[in-house]
Amino acid sequence: MKFDSLHIADPILRALKDEGYVTPTPIQAQTIPIALNGKDILATAQTGTGKTAAFAIPILQVLSEAKTTGNKRKIRSLVLVPTRELCVQVGDSFKAYGRHLHLVSTVIFGGVRQGAQTRALQKGVDILIATPGRLHDLIDQGFVSLKDIEIFVLDEADRMLDMGFINDVRKVVKALPDDRQTLFFSATMPPDISRLAHDILFKPEKISVSPPSSTVETIEQYVLHVDRNNKSALLLHMLDRKELKSVLVFTRTKRGADAVVRILERAHVRADSIHGNKAQNARQRALENFKSGKIRVLVATDIASRGIDIDDLEYVINYEIPEVPETYVHRIGRGGRAGGKGTSYSFCDASERIDLRTIEKLIGKKIPVMEDHPFPPGTVRPPRPGQLHSNHPPQKPKEHTKEAAKTEEQKRGIQKFTPRRSKKRRR
Ligand code: AMP
Repeated sequence: MKFDSLHIADPILRALKDEGYVTPTPIQAQTIPIALNGKDILATAQTGTGKTAAFAIPILQVLSEAKTTGNKRKIRSLVLVPTRELCVQVGDSFKAYGRHLHLVSTVIFGGVRQGAQTRALQKGVDILIATPGRLHDLIDQGFVSLKDIEIFVLDEADRMLDMGFINDVRKVVKALPDDRQTLFFSATMPPDISRLAHDILFKPEKISVSPPSSTVETIEQYVLHVDRNNKSALLLHMLDRKELKSVLVFTRTKRGADAVVRILERAHVRADSIHGNKAQNARQRALENFKSGKIRVLVATDIASRGIDIDDLEYVINYEIPEVPETYVHRIGRGGRAGGKGTSYSFCDASERIDLRTIEKLIGKKIPVMEDHPFPPGTVRPPRPGQLHSNHPPQKPKEHTKEAAKTEEQKRGIQKFTPRRSKKRRR
């Protein structure tokens, strides 16, 4: 099946083409027609199944086709997500799939100052992607009204429950018009979630797709325990193997990605990075050079890797273990696409073992350990001349400036509430 057969509007089809999507994933093939029909949906689907596009495409289509009244945009669709990370990802997806439409979407989440978010809201928004806490704050301050919502999405409902947001979710639902369409997504359906679904959905169609952990069963996975400062040497050792012709390497940070590229280039391995600090055309160029074989290694951060669809990619290396377990499934799912074979190697240092265990819990199996490598933990490696001993980008010396003196919370814009006595009352 192709996207063309799902009655998707042309501007959206073009955007999907830009993303390199041709075939809908099972959750998309099932969800899109039902959602376009205006029905409620109860979907069991995990991250990695393509669920974001499954709800974003019909929302964009329905909203772009509807006639609106008045000149100010009203929030007509709300997507509630549990985490800031997911909020940003879903926001990016709406922007990508809606790039040829004239709809406006914005994200709101906590942990940062609200100024930019409220300014965006005041300009007018059609689609709002939000985490529950900040949404309540902005509703209370009068920046958000939910009375015009036509389509409501609850994403990762079970994670909302785990994170203690279930009452916040119920409060949001109370503020929504009764006459709305609701799309409900959860990776699992524990009793509390089934109850919530029962309370907020109207005659839903039920959809269930296999979790990505079963999709990635075709991929051979190995973990290599190694000290942090030996990871670059281990990477170079792996690349000595000729069959690793084309390798996607994941790091946690943008700086980390650039540092790995520098190490590879010094060792005469053709490599480039793809991350959020790079302009879109630089990213595109790196991707094309990788696809055409001009460079052998592409080093990516997770956000930048979304949408990377490379046929025949066999090898993925996790230079660092991701903190969010679903990210692991995403990453290794880049290899072995469309049933092809794939292999992933994950470099794990002592501090990452906890994350590794969480991943193993999610995928329901132990990842085999590859012991046969020259850098097991505790190996002392003499630094090569001219090469950094550590694979970390050099740290700037700590500055004694006002900025350096700020606490982490202040830097991230989290304002603490310090009760102050009113002067008036003291008098
Ligand atoms: P999600 O489950 O929504 O987080 O999506 C998982 C990943 O699959 C994302 O990186 C998407 O960019 C990618 N993706 C979603 N739909 C498709 C599709 N139809 N074809 C190829 N990749 C897709």
